[in-house]
Amino acid sequence: MSPNTALITLVVPVFNEEEAIPLFIEEIRKVSLDTLHAKLEVLFVNDGSTDATLRILRALQLQESFVGYIDLSRNFGKEAAMTAGLEHATGDAVIPMDVDLQDPPELIAEMVARWREGAEVVLARRANRDSDTVLKRATASWFYKVHNWLATPKIPDNVGDYRLMDRKVVEALNRLPESRRFMKGLFAWIGFQTVEISYTRSERVAGQTKFNGWKLWNFAMEGLTSFSTAPLQIWTYIGFSVAIPSLVYAIFIVLRSLVIGTDVPGYASLIVAICFLGGLQLIGIGVLGEYLGRTYLETKKRPVYVVRESGQAQSPQH
Ligand code: UDP
Ligand code: MG
Repeated sequence: MSPNTALITLVVPVFNEEEAIPLFIEEIRKVSLDTLHAKLEVLFVNDGSTDATLRILRALQLQESFVGYIDLSRNFGKEAAMTAGLEHATGDAVIPMDVDLQDPPELIAEMVARWREGAEVVLARRANRDSDTVLKRATASWFYKVHNWLATPKIPDNVGDYRLMDRKVVEALNRLPESRRFMKGLFAWIGFQTVEISYTRSERVAGQTKFNGWKLWNFAMEGLTSFSTAPLQIWTYIGFSVAIPSLVYAIFIVLRSLVIGTDVPGYASLIVAICFLGGLQLIGIGVLGEYLGRTYLETKKRPVYVVRESGQAQSPQH
């Protein structure tokens, strides 16, 4: 691969983004290919949009030689859409990107430069989270703390999916067999020589965020359960720490009853113990259920996504 014929594929999952796509293409056109010394193509993955997104993509693919698209048969979620994009991307380096311009295209040149210097992964780290709400900032920071405390490998905080990956990194990712894909975790798991650059994340240019609180909570659970079994194992320790004092207390009660006879009152402590232990057991069963459910879905070996139609980029920009 000589530098001038290198192909960079931008993988862009889109879900109901009719307003953002034209603005995104506008900005990508501005990326100077002279400084890049490479060809650039955009591979959109339509993740079951219900608005005009697919029509726009079809038209773009005909008009713009550097645009290709894959249309999924329904909404599979961003992680699945990204997986589809990574599996279809043919570039020597691949960059997953959001369409809402929160991942600034100005960084592409710098990423490519670092890649040329030998980096296999170039991470874009957010300098701050000023464009997020207070609640999102707090929950994100808790998530990274808990996740990195429990799980290996650690995922870097303030780093999204925006990164450049060398061909061999993408190949390695594509070989991972799991069908429930928490990409941030998989990216970290895969390793490779990584460098970081930092950027300021701006507000979404158009349209609405596709992630509400409940979706984010499930996303966090997915991440934790995909990369840590600590929530399962902790029950052994909780069990012991409840059982041992209980045993001691039981011996004490038996002895006391033998020596000074039974005392009838004890309703309050009894009910507290029953409720507390009942609650603990339910939580434990819930955690088991989380993992069992995921194992169940994983054993079905269903594909991560289904493609309805696709259109290749005719000739990448160069
Ligand atoms: N997205 C997707 N499928 C989904 C949800 C989102 O492909 O089910 C895409 C969306 O179109 C956008 C990117 O994922 O290009 C990031 O979504 P968004 O900007 O809503 O997330 P946020 O920046 O709020 O975390
Ligand atoms: Mg966004």
